[in-house]
Amino acid sequence: LIHEHVFSALPGFEIDYRQVFEDESAVKLAVSSLRAAREFGLKTVVDASPIPWYRRPDLLKRISEESEVYIVASTGIYTERMGWPIHLKLLSVEEIAQLFIYEIEKGIQRSSVQAGVIKLATGGFEVGKYERKAIFAAVIAQKSTGVGIITHTEDPRGGIRQLDTFEEAGADLSKVMIGHMDNSQDLEYHMSVAKRGASVGFDRIGHYKMLSHESRLNVVESFIRSGYSSQMLLSHDYVAYGQGRFYETEEQAHWQEYGYTYLFRELLPQLEKRSVDKSLIHSILVDNPMRILGG
Ligand SMILES: [Zn+2]
Repeated sequence: LIHEHVFSALPGFEIDYRQVFEDESAVKLAVSSLRAAREFGLKTVVDASPIPWYRRPDLLKRISEESEVYIVASTGIYTERMGWPIHLKLLSVEEIAQLFIYEIEKGIQRSSVQAGVIKLATGGFEVGKYERKAIFAAVIAQKSTGVGIITHTEDPRGGIRQLDTFEEAGADLSKVMIGHMDNSQDLEYHMSVAKRGASVGFDRIGHYKMLSHESRLNVVESFIRSGYSSQMLLSHDYVAYGQGRFYETEEQAHWQEYGYTYLFRELLPQLEKRSVDKSLIHSILVDNPMRILGG
């Protein structure tokens, strides 16, 4: 699963005395959710929380060991709108690249837990001034380390602008996944990204408030049949333990029931019913993430 969060807390939550991140609850919930998905064959998840999200490499390590699921930690930076700390804003592109490279080669936040992927994000339709710096820095880090890049997009066509910037920066698009493309139902949009060589993340499977289950199933099926399934990735963007108001959503009952298993218990059986080739599905879940993450 290329885009999940084993736990999450809004940047800056520590400022509020009412917000307490409960380590033991986070570990317990994350481990039980990952174990449940492991029954369906889950071996590896990417934890897609970059700077400035609450990153706890010590907990990622514990959760991975206790659940027996590999967790790929992220370096990279989130959207400008969600608050670039002033320190980061003052760094040059080269310095940000060195920060990413350090986290990949040495470890995150002085730990020995290395990042295995770069996660980037752009907020609106335009790529912001700082978001642009992060993309150029990520491409330097990608060239130096060979790691893949995954992204977060918000505007239904934001992926195009992201891709323009990746191309301008000279990224290896075979190892870039434009994420949250399933915020949109527009197959032309999905294919326009795939045609340029990047991969397409249908990584909000189960978020039915954004797109109904039925529409998402149709979109996923159409993309598979478009002939670009070798550039497709599936994931939930599910948070097993979320700290803060942000995580009080109307979809809570759904996520409590499914966690990281919705894809395996609902989406994949429905695709099979529609006669989507099983070997294609295997390839989407195994070969495609291996290409993005491997190297
Ligand atoms: Zn996410």
